[in-house]
Amino acid sequence: MAATATRDDWKTLADQVEIPHQAFIDGRYVDALSGETFDDISPIDGRRLAQVASCGSADVDVAVAGARRAFESGVWSRSAPKQRKAVLLRLAELIREHADELAVLETLDMGKPISDALADDMRLSADCIQYYGEAVDKVYDEIAPTGPNAISMIRREPLGVVAAVVPWNFPLMMAAWKLGPALAAGNSVVLKPAEQSPLTALRLGALAAEAGIPDGVVQVVPGDGPGAGRPLGLHPDVDMVTFTGSTEVGKLFLRYAGESNMKRVALECGGKSPHIILPDCGDLAAAASAAAWGVFYNQGEVCNAGSRVLVHRDVKDAFMEHLLAAAGAIRPADPLDPAARLGAMVDRTQTDRVLSYIESGRGAGAEVVLGGSQARTETGGWYIEPTIFDRVSNDMTIAQEEIFGPVLATIDVASEDEAIAVANDTIYGLAAAVWTDNIDRAHRVARAIRAGVVWVNTFDAGDITSPFGGFKQSGFGRDKSMHALDKYTDLKTIWVALRD
Ligand code: NAD
Repeated sequence: MAATATRDDWKTLADQVEIPHQAFIDGRYVDALSGETFDDISPIDGRRLAQVASCGSADVDVAVAGARRAFESGVWSRSAPKQRKAVLLRLAELIREHADELAVLETLDMGKPISDALADDMRLSADCIQYYGEAVDKVYDEIAPTGPNAISMIRREPLGVVAAVVPWNFPLMMAAWKLGPALAAGNSVVLKPAEQSPLTALRLGALAAEAGIPDGVVQVVPGDGPGAGRPLGLHPDVDMVTFTGSTEVGKLFLRYAGESNMKRVALECGGKSPHIILPDCGDLAAAASAAAWGVFYNQGEVCNAGSRVLVHRDVKDAFMEHLLAAAGAIRPADPLDPAARLGAMVDRTQTDRVLSYIESGRGAGAEVVLGGSQARTETGGWYIEPTIFDRVSNDMTIAQEEIFGPVLATIDVASEDEAIAVANDTIYGLAAAVWTDNIDRAHRVARAIRAGVVWVNTFDAGDITSPFGGFKQSGFGRDKSMHALDKYTDLKTIWVALRD
């Protein structure tokens, strides 16, 4: 679509786009064996987009068996690195060639602004697959520094069948973060998209086949958590689960692994990221703008959303003025309008959940200084105004629990030490940010915060070269960067005795 595309252009594409609705198993689209489907509803206007195959245990068994067959055949797992590289690079290109179609599916399915779907989700998904494609033939095994009478080779071997269970907030991008390194390492993958937003994953299955990924190596099983996620977690022939989603469900996957075959588990879970503004912050307007976008981007449905702003009392008033100006300009709008910056909430359930947190904040005595209500109800879709609470204390529910919506809690702090203590007073440890012009302080605070990523004088910056993932109950294992490859391989030592 041209850069000048209008809402009408996107609407026309949305009306014409073919909606995938079947599972993708062994190289073709199939219905669930039970014939059951679930309704896929667009949060933009409440319209039913499709009746999607609702996979259960029987479908998971077929998908895992096909993935295992493909793995054992060696057609992908033992193929030459340069061949896997060529196929993954082709897949990245196909994502780019189909970016408009994929972006419109993503926006229809989960409500994010079309401009973000295109500029962020599609671009970064293609970049991710390309990065791991390029990596395939650049990773060497090792020879250990043993004595003269032996050679000890340390080989990285693919695990086998990897189940990737992903959430609804960045559907294609989360799938790409898993598929890129898992496929690069030679594994077969069974992908289970979230039931709220399965469409781009289903389309990706066919694009993977078109790129040359052999049948069975990428299987896509749509379905709900208990129906399709649980049997993957418990499956005796799945070697690893790579999961992104809530901390609550992440813990279930640890149990599933313990109750079944001790499969490896990597978890990217929730967050309650602190965004710290210290008095020596040199640009309060920039900090306020970053704080607003840090929590309102993607309707706040972001695992690392900066949902707690910890602001030093000395700069509180000036900061709040900038924050309210920046946030006040952000309004929920039709996600298919390229000018929209804030779209629809993913569904009614999530909308009700966020609204109940807003009520909880009010009830606990925090003050709503912006928003606080549902919006655009006349559309039949689900929208919430950007909402800012002031006078929040860190023990309130809205400061402790992940809201996963456009709701910011503002907490006053009186010192650097207090900021660090409040920042760390959470079960989560995904991300954090600190704004200060003092370089010593920046490093001191960054080291003291227990989180997988700490940004200094920015928020949510990064690219595929740097790892992403959590401390504490935000999970373990890292997505992105060369480190992600580690979790999709096992190390094998081959010790060869040398005779004199
Ligand atoms: P969720 O945990 O409800 O669902 C995630 C996936 O797990 C979905 O595919 C779902 O169908 C499946 N699932 C649900 N119940 C299951 C069960 N009983 N057994 C097996 N599988 C089950 O999360 P969500 O609501 O889709 O996404 C929001 C969550 O994801 C938030 O907590 C957010 O912080 C987290 N998230 C984390 C990251 C990260 O990188 N750390 C990124 C994006 C989202």
